[in-house]
Amino acid sequence: MIYMIIREVECKSILTKSKISNYAVNCYVGCMHSCVYCYARYMKRFTGHNEPWGQFVDVKINSPDILKKQVKKAKVGEVFMSSACDGWQQIERKYRVSRQCLKILLENGFHVSILTKSCVIEDDLDIIEGSDTELGFTLTTFDDKLCRKIEPRASLTKYRIETLKIAKKKGIKIWAFLGPFMPFLSDTDENIDSLFSNLAEIGLDYIYVDKLNPRPCVWESIKAFLIGNYPYLLRNYGKIMYDQQYREKYINNLKQLILSKAKRYDLSQKISMVFS
Ligand code: SF4
Repeated sequence: MIYMIIREVECKSILTKSKISNYAVNCYVGCMHSCVYCYARYMKRFTGHNEPWGQFVDVKINSPDILKKQVKKAKVGEVFMSSACDGWQQIERKYRVSRQCLKILLENGFHVSILTKSCVIEDDLDIIEGSDTELGFTLTTFDDKLCRKIEPRASLTKYRIETLKIAKKKGIKIWAFLGPFMPFLSDTDENIDSLFSNLAEIGLDYIYVDKLNPRPCVWESIKAFLIGNYPYLLRNYGKIMYDQQYREKYINNLKQLILSKAKRYDLSQKISMVFS
């Protein structure tokens, strides 16, 4: 059993400028999903949390009130919701701050794109339906056991796919973010094939793909995960992350594999690689 620290906090601003979109809205700091590869854990450097990543969540309790004020002054544009910490993690069922913010944005003419790993978003399809909101899920593996290890408290991929199907039936624009792939675990031919074969059936509007990046704080988490689960992979992961020649070769092979699967399942036109 995981001991989770939940704090209700007040924010001064919730609609923030973003490099990915015009704006970002994130109603939580911290994420119960606790993904091994989570890049957002760098936030701890600035927030002062002592708890391990995945064991604390700050709920920006006043975010709807602040957003109502901000949208009156902000130029209407595109908003990426849940870009940093998952806005639809289980705690959202109690607080509904992401839902309220989504509603405010739509009522004020903003175009919203959502990225989540949680089927809790199904609760909000009623307000998404009929809007131009784009709903995306991050997907990495259909292997339930591996999914539980690398994304411990997110919805299993098979359930994320079911939610995408429901959204599609409601006429909602759906997309997927594939990755980051864990070398030798979720980047296998079999795993990537099964992701693409499933995606081919659900009529996604577009797909982004990314690899594992050596972002701050991520290596420590991955290293601990490998030591506990796959110690024999540690050396090769180190090379993939930090040996430039080895990394380039690895990335190129992964890219080729992804492109071949996209072609096989007739998804080449929908795919964008965010590989750098
Ligand atoms: S769902 Fe996203 S924010 Fe949450 S732990 Fe996983 S990668 Fe991080």
